[in-house]
Amino acid sequence: MSSDAHSNSVPRKKKTGRNLSEPVDLPRIQAAVREILLAIGEDPNREGLSETPQRVARMYEELFGGLRKDPAAVLQKTFTEKYDEMVLVKNIGFESMCEHHLLPFFGKAHIAYLPNGNIVGLSKLARVVEILSRRPQVQERMTETLADLVMEELDARGVGVVVEASHSCMAIRGVRKADSLCTTSAMRGAFKTNPATRSEFMALIQTK
Ligand code: ZN
Repeated sequence: MSSDAHSNSVPRKKKTGRNLSEPVDLPRIQAAVREILLAIGEDPNREGLSETPQRVARMYEELFGGLRKDPAAVLQKTFTEKYDEMVLVKNIGFESMCEHHLLPFFGKAHIAYLPNGNIVGLSKLARVVEILSRRPQVQERMTETLADLVMEELDARGVGVVVEASHSCMAIRGVRKADSLCTTSAMRGAFKTNPATRSEFMALIQTK
């Protein structure tokens, strides 16, 4: 993770770059949505649309709420434990927004790690998925970031992450492949170097 997300100390004059020290600018989203409605030839004042800018602003505040949360902090409370076999949490559901089209993509994440004396509460892995998915995202980066965070924060011997997702931007526009599923994976440490570890992980996530 770059440290850019945390360097919020200097206030920006032009509100064009990242500024995560302030809450989401709801009026600014409302004005922008109104502009979009005008641009497509709609009447933003007609009954069905009159509240839409406010609704979209609140929705974006929710959908992008992960920008103002630090996923690393979630993993910092660990427990000393001698258990040294694979820990796997699979089928972690998530909903995210593709940053290329601002359309939803959603699916499941599977995360496994080999502890190095430290384990983390299982729900914390789901919490990290939640924070990362509530940002403008690409599935590939989300997968890599998940693996790196678990590897670094738990000082794990290895991490495996597989993410499977359906992308609205593929289903409703462009090539219109509604049933396609995109799978991404990131392997770190023993999951990268030891084929047996990786095979065990892949077998475990394929059993229902
Ligand atoms: Zn997209």
